[in-house]
Amino acid sequence: MNSPVSQLVDRFARRITYLRLSLTDRCDLRCAYCMPERMTFLPRAEVLTLEELHEVALAFIARGVRKIRLTGGEPLVRRDMMQLVRALGRKLGTNEEGGSLDELTLTTNGTRLAEFADDLAAAGVKRINVSLDTMDRAKFAELTRRDSLPQVLEGIAAAKAAGIRIKLNAVALKGINEHELPDLIAWAHGEGHSVTLIEVMPLGEVEGDRFDHYLPLDAVRRDLEARWTLSASDARTGGPARYVDIAETGGRLGFITPLTGNFCEGCNRVRVTATGQLFMCLGGEGKVDLRAALRSENPEAAMADAFARAMGEKPERHAFVIDKAGAAPALARHMSMTGG
Ligand code: SAM
Ligand code: SF4
Repeated sequence: MNSPVSQLVDRFARRITYLRLSLTDRCDLRCAYCMPERMTFLPRAEVLTLEELHEVALAFIARGVRKIRLTGGEPLVRRDMMQLVRALGRKLGTNEEGGSLDELTLTTNGTRLAEFADDLAAAGVKRINVSLDTMDRAKFAELTRRDSLPQVLEGIAAAKAAGIRIKLNAVALKGINEHELPDLIAWAHGEGHSVTLIEVMPLGEVEGDRFDHYLPLDAVRRDLEARWTLSASDARTGGPARYVDIAETGGRLGFITPLTGNFCEGCNRVRVTATGQLFMCLGGEGKVDLRAALRSENPEAAMADAFARAMGEKPERHAFVIDKAGAAPALARHMSMTGG
């Protein structure tokens, strides 16, 4: 009989209940703040197989993880990813020995959502995050280096039609989408979607200097307050966002401010890359190799050991700053490795 595995609790008594699992580092867009046009992707052999990703997810579920977000790169470009979604969907709401999932969700750029929306809904996905920074087709093509806005809008409509609740994530970018944000928010709220604004984070080399487009969200908030009535909401989704309700649009708006406001205190999450590297903090280098553990002679013991190390090393807080033009990224890895 298997002995019970210990739950994931770090040195600061934070219980880890949320896993972000990256299915691939590849993507069909090239968002300028995320990756360079000529991004070097990982050799396929380094990436976990779908079976290994499933094993990893099960190991987390057995240790108390209740929510899994699939991400990337772009999760929907991973071939046969629906197999994994369906397998994890079967863990939803069950009470099998070893734990069960409260939520299975994903973060996508939406380009292939029209194709998968019905399957995702059928597998038990009830909410998704779609990244959308602009509704201006030319600007979208410039920012993502691909002319895919029509497909993304079609994908969002398909997900809505499939009964999936949608949150739009927009990175606020000075001189790019800052003046368009109110229109984006009003449109989204009119469609019944919530919106979360994100500050650009210094992860990985890209062609430009992110400092040029860094827009602190307190400035955005002041601008929105001059236009609308914002009231602080106590809604929390277990994540770092803080929310307001907007009286005029009837919708909810979140702010993720890694740079201007610390969000680490209630951290309940960890991230696993497509190569099985467990990152304890989005803003840190610390990682533990789950792929080596999985592929070792005694995976059960090696995984238990890896999880114990990870919990011993999860840092109290991240250390991002974007305060000087021309500064190197705080971390060498791109957001597309850990999926945000
Ligand atoms: N491809 C999917 C997508 O775009 O939704 C999932 C992965 S993407 C890395 C996850 C989120 O990270 C997106 O909302 C994207 O806008 C955001 N992101 C990427 N690079 C970022 C950066 N340097 N700073 C802040 N957000 C970033
Ligand atoms: Fe791809 Fe998402 Fe990065 Fe854009 S933000 S390049 S869609 S991984």
